[in-house]
Amino acid sequence: MIGHRGEDFKNLYRAIYPKLQKLFGTRQPVFLSTSSAWAVMEASIRNLADRGVLCCMCGAFSDKWFDVAKRCGKNAEPLQVDWGKHIDRRDIDRQLATGKFDTVTLVHNETSTGVMNPLEEICSILAKYPDVALILDTVSSFSAVEIDMDALGIDVMLTGAQKALALPPGFSLFSVSEKAFARAGKIANRGFYFDFLEFKKEQAQWMTPSTPSIAHIHALQSKLDEIFEEGLQARFDRHARTNALVHDWVRRAGFDFFAEEGFRSKTLTCVKNNKGIDVLEFARELRQKHHLVIDPGYGKIRGETFRLSNMGDETEESVSHLLACLDDVL
Ligand SMILES: *Cc1c(COP(=O)(O)O)cnc(C)c1O
Repeated sequence: MIGHRGEDFKNLYRAIYPKLQKLFGTRQPVFLSTSSAWAVMEASIRNLADRGVLCCMCGAFSDKWFDVAKRCGKNAEPLQVDWGKHIDRRDIDRQLATGKFDTVTLVHNETSTGVMNPLEEICSILAKYPDVALILDTVSSFSAVEIDMDALGIDVMLTGAQKALALPPGFSLFSVSEKAFARAGKIANRGFYFDFLEFKKEQAQWMTPSTPSIAHIHALQSKLDEIFEEGLQARFDRHARTNALVHDWVRRAGFDFFAEEGFRSKTLTCVKNNKGIDVLEFARELRQKHHLVIDPGYGKIRGETFRLSNMGDETEESVSHLLACLDDVL
């Protein structure tokens, strides 16, 4: 272990920084948060929401953000669509035109339903409202598809460790725009642990506001080396290929997709149990017989769906193996 208040730590943070900025597509500071992603999601609300938050809701994670905003005492309103559907930019436009909101929360890849929201289209609408800040959760899409934070005008972009990055849980990364820093400066009660301005001040000296999980940062350094050795485009392409393998299997096995066509995630597939199998038993047997773990559906769609991930380190080989084992258990 190295000390977190010395040169060793500064060198570690400095060493991973250019790769982090590249992955985020930003020239803004990238912060290391010793927490899971929810902490940064809550922090973004506490640092930015003033007049009102519009919560774009299309699944378990995005729905929960509305609850979190209210628990933080913020004025929040839902923009809810049915699970499996995407967030339509025209609905955002209509809501923002009321002038009630200064903050929007959006989950890029809704991990519970397998919907990937049309980020570019949504960002082009948000560009019409320069006073509105966009907080974007990329927990299950970061580094799997290209997301250019600065070009898209994203104000807070955050990701966790254990999904798209395939690192151990308990750590997060985020970046903050100048607009968002300026907003935070006017917001009272930001607290300390997740005060964006504390992060900014400390990062300028390659430090974090409180003791960071250094073990995670070593793991992150190793992961970043792997990512850039593979190459970003090759990584994106690998995700596209493994995703297509899963999609082919869904059709071949006679299942449907839970997410609507045109908005299906590139990193995981939420399969609709239209064949009426016992999904929990299916997952149990897959685990027992093949030592493979799949998720038997999240929250209210447990048993009605199951989810197959191709994010992180999955390869054509590992995904093909999973699919062959699924066939076996079916
Ligand atoms: C898993 C997940 C989260 C929450 O992550 P925690 O690590 O539990 O804080 C948030 N958003 C999305 C899209 C997720 O998939």
